[in-house]
Amino acid sequence: MVRLEVFRWAPGEREQIRSYDVQTVADTTVLDALVAIQREQDPTLALRYACRVGMCGSCAMVVNGRERWACRTRLASLGPGPVAVRPLYHFPLLRDLVVDMTPFVDRLAAVGAAFVPTAQAPAYAEIAPASAERAEIDDAIECIGCGMCVSACTMVAHDRRFPGPAALNRAFTLQRDRRDAAHDARWSILVGDDALPRCHGQGTCTDVCPMRLSPTRSIIRLRQMAVRRLVGLS
Ligand code: SF4
Repeated sequence: MVRLEVFRWAPGEREQIRSYDVQTVADTTVLDALVAIQREQDPTLALRYACRVGMCGSCAMVVNGRERWACRTRLASLGPGPVAVRPLYHFPLLRDLVVDMTPFVDRLAAVGAAFVPTAQAPAYAEIAPASAERAEIDDAIECIGCGMCVSACTMVAHDRRFPGPAALNRAFTLQRDRRDAAHDARWSILVGDDALPRCHGQGTCTDVCPMRLSPTRSIIRLRQMAVRRLVGLS
């Protein structure tokens, strides 16, 4: 039996922590336990999940003070309990463990994080898997948009205009993509006071990323590229 102390809030109510005891086996995950609570003890508990197998990132939450995906976090790995569960930080709260991901999308949009093809781009412009261009971004392209890095980033809390780690990581992959036609427009945003200079390199984003990406590295690479561009080396 493991006790979960779960953050609860709904519009018009006061925040509170409610305790639930859940019968577990060796492989019971945090998500298993929350679903069991919802089905057997408290159907009003709101949480978000979809794939249940560590692919979609929609069950991202803060467990024992750290951002984790609930479906891949076994209770047994967290010690005897109680286990504290709360929603992601730095997102508007909708209810209980469910946050509004709109700011995540807004941050991507703010750095122009959509691919813009060049006018003459072939229909299937390829970047060879073994090429240096691909190797440079390989570690940055598997983002699943879970938002854990944004929750863990203290600078996001200080500056609402700071794009945050996921958006800057995405911008890095596009600035290294020769098929993209929006590099100049994106640079003008990235070198502004609220973007690249705002990161303090604390690395908390990289610490919590479930896909083992390093937004920190992407930001450092963007800064190096920006300096080279400034002095006319690229
Ligand atoms: S960079 Fe990692 S932590 Fe951030 S949104 Fe993408 S997968 Fe999630």
